[in-house]
Order: sequence, then C-alpha cells, then structure tokens
Amino acid sequence: MCFGVRDAVALALEHADAGPLTILGDLVHNPSVLAALEAKGVAVAQDATHVQTPTVMVTAHGASERALARTRALGLTVVEATCPLVRVAHRAVAALARDGYHPVIVGQRDHVEVRGLTGDLDRFDVILEDADVLALEEHPRFGVASQTTQAVDKVRHLVDLIRRRFPESEVRFIDTVCKPTKDRQTSAVEMARQSDVVVVVGGRSSNNTRELVKTCARYCARVHHVQTETDVRPEWFDGAEVVGLTAGTSTPDDVIDAVEAQVSKTDAKTHSRATDVEVWR
Ligand code: SF4
Repeated sequence: MCFGVRDAVALALEHADAGPLTILGDLVHNPSVLAALEAKGVAVAQDATHVQTPTVMVTAHGASERALARTRALGLTVVEATCPLVRVAHRAVAALARDGYHPVIVGQRDHVEVRGLTGDLDRFDVILEDADVLALEEHPRFGVASQTTQAVDKVRHLVDLIRRRFPESEVRFIDTVCKPTKDRQTSAVEMARQSDVVVVVGGRSSNNTRELVKTCARYCARVHHVQTETDVRPEWFDGAEVVGLTAGTSTPDDVIDAVEAQVSKTDAKTHSRATDVEVWR
C-alpha cells in the first residue's frame, strides 16, 4: 500500500478502538481491507445524512471545505484521513483559481477525489479524454491539475492538447499526480515489457489499479486484473515463461502474496518448465 492509504487504514482502526465510527465512502477501494474494518464494527455510509455514529471519517481521497462544513453542520465530529498528497492537489487547485486561471482537472468526474478537488470551485471543467478537450470553451487562462492517481503521460498529453487547441490562452499546469502512482506506473511499464502475461491486483473501482491495467496493456498483450487469488485462471498462463505481478496502491501485501502463490501453484500444475513470477512493488 502507498503511505497515504496505509496511514488512513491505521487511523480508522485507531478511532474504531476509541468509539463508534462511520467511514464516509470507501476508505480504500479494496474489499479485503474493508472486510477487516467491518470486523472491527466500523460502519460505512455513502452520504453524511445516513451516518448514525457521532464520529465520521473522511477517506484518504479527501473532501472539499464545503462538504466538510455540511457534514459538521449535521452535528458530526469529522476525522480527516486525507492523504497529504491529496492536500497538495487541493492547494494547487485553490492557487490556480485564486490566481485567475480557469481550473481544469484531469480525472474521473464522479470520483470522490475529483469531487473533493472541485467542490469549492464555482466554475471548472473535468476532462479525461481528447474529446473532452474539444468540448472546452475558450478562457484566457487555463490552470490544469490532476487527480493524484492519473497516468502522468496521459495528463501531459491532455495539457499539450489544450495548449494546441487554445494557442492564444495561457495554460499553466501543476503536476499533482502523486509519487507512489508515478513510481508504480514506471515500474509497471518496465515489467510489462519483459512479461508474457501480467497480473494486476487491486479493487475493481480503484482508479490507480485500472490505470496500471491500461498502462501494462500498452506493453503486454495478456493483462489480467484480479481482486484476490480466487480470480486467477490457470489458462491465462499457457505457454508463458515470465509472469509479471503488480498491484494498485491500496492493495494489501497479504492479498498480493496470495495471488503470487496462486499464480506459482497454477504454473506448477500446468507447465513442466518453471515460470518466473516477478513481483514489482
Ligand atoms: S495513491 Fe497517492 S494520493 Fe492517493 S493515498 Fe496513495 S499516496 Fe496518497
């Protein structure tokens, strides 16, 4: 796990020991971590109005000041597990807006982190694909930042596209993709280039896991996304000599280890020649 998710999980467990706690949304996009929290009696609510404990926790993805104020107005005590690197992105977006740039966020419009990044803005755009750039209206100054878990190459590509589409406009870009995401993407490219098959471990709704799948698929034709070892299928590894294994930043080590063991076991059953399983973290 990246430090942001690890610290958020630790904070949730600490507060769960101190008293009843509800987490607002998914603390991490990972079913096994969520099951461990549930076992401790931690409740999950998707909306602050449904919270039935006195204390509520905002996830590592963060929230806007407006959303925090609305939650506190319900009489709830708010514990923030917001990742420091998400806070960096919040400060970047606030600075762009304050300095008169039209904020453009590269990310998934409905993702909780993007809602947090845009929740205090009155005017902004969210883009994810080339077509979204074509749909932008002209502004004299664009200020671009991104969801922390986007692939940085894609973000830079979209910034270039904005510059080309609006040559008269000033386009300022603040790179808010977090370092754990960048490191993992770089390693994933190197790994995928050397692998016959790649297995990516992580929650289905985890953005950085999905971005890893897309990145690996550019360099390896056989890429599979699994949540746990039970998703692994023996036929995926037919004829493979090197299997690459990587994981999203919210995937616990024990889940990765179980997938690695399952892949190795599958290989022992289906191949006479040893397959290398390379784990990149
Ligand atoms: S993926 Fe990056 S921004 Fe998100 S919690 Fe981890 S370190 Fe923080």
